[in-house]
Amino acid sequence: MNAVEHLYIHIPFCLGKCVYCGFYSVTADTGTRVRYAASPARELRSFVESGMADVRPRTLYVGGGTPSLLGCDGLTALFSSIRNTVSLDRLEEATVEINPADTTPLLFQALRGLGVTRISLGAQSFSDDTLRRIGRRHNAQQIREAVRDARAAGFPDVGIDLIAGLPSVSMREWRETLDEAISLSLQHLSVYALSVEPESVLARSQERFSIPTDEAMLDALSEAENVLSESGFLRYEISNYALQGFECRHNLAVWRGEDYLGLGPAAASRVARFRWTNARDADTYLDRWGEAAATNFPTENREELSPVEDAIERVIFRFRLAEGIDWKRDLVANPLLQEIAPRWEKVLVSLVPHGIVRRTPTGFALTRRGREVCDAVLAELR
Ligand code: SF4
Repeated sequence: MNAVEHLYIHIPFCLGKCVYCGFYSVTADTGTRVRYAASPARELRSFVESGMADVRPRTLYVGGGTPSLLGCDGLTALFSSIRNTVSLDRLEEATVEINPADTTPLLFQALRGLGVTRISLGAQSFSDDTLRRIGRRHNAQQIREAVRDARAAGFPDVGIDLIAGLPSVSMREWRETLDEAISLSLQHLSVYALSVEPESVLARSQERFSIPTDEAMLDALSEAENVLSESGFLRYEISNYALQGFECRHNLAVWRGEDYLGLGPAAASRVARFRWTNARDADTYLDRWGEAAATNFPTENREELSPVEDAIERVIFRFRLAEGIDWKRDLVANPLLQEIAPRWEKVLVSLVPHGIVRRTPTGFALTRRGREVCDAVLAELR
């Protein structure tokens, strides 16, 4: 039987909505959050009992929403219920996303005691004005304190998320945010380009915000790469930077085409040739899994890919990674991809003189310019 080695758990609660946010989250009282904590383990048990695959996690990623809203007790209940359902003996990495507004030294100590190895803080900016304008609950000082407390609790790997191209942010302010981030001696930084998500406040009231032009966005991303690479960070994936050895193994596995199981409303999964997303409905999720294991949770977009589609999808996202694709290992050695290899080679070779693709010792990777047009390159290959 196949083994799924990567687990994602979605915590669908927030205290409000940040203006740019397109993630699935709802507000909920403390009782609902406490009730939710053991629910993902019930969904997991049902998956294991379905016999579709074994689950032996090497990585576990708790994201959201706002996982830190579960508090010490909720996160303890979450981890122990997962541990009671599948063995975590092989776990190499466990990440929890934390909102800097929710942190206490006690929370970090509790997470360390639960075996969490990575902390990912949703910082987004170091300007208090900008943080207020985009609806974040924390300020810059709380980010600094959260990093300090995480380190004091013994976390070897602390990272933050930033958003490039936030409304009304000048290049000078962006540069100050990057400099602040560098000064915190972090191990990992995610830098996401602002996108106007269809259901976000930003999309509904664009006239209230000054959204950057494509050119300004590219300048902000380029500045991030300049500043971070000068400080020793490798841009190992389009939106992710790390010091050597601190790349997020969970995300690397996803980009490298490995199977993963997502638990919780709106969580996506890829197992064998199947892809599905759980329905975006926390109430129904709690009805099904809140008290006891029940029938399968309704999913959206469940599809079974053909063997060739599955093979292409697993290899194509490697282009998001700095390492790119290994021509022999990823394509030629796979009988399912031998037919498309000549077409891909033609496209990739034609992009080399334009500075979009470069040859590596074993295959091809996108250049810095290529990363700006990654989606267009992938569309050419499909
Ligand atoms: S950005 Fe994060 S904290 Fe803000 S509403 Fe979305 S999920 Fe919640």
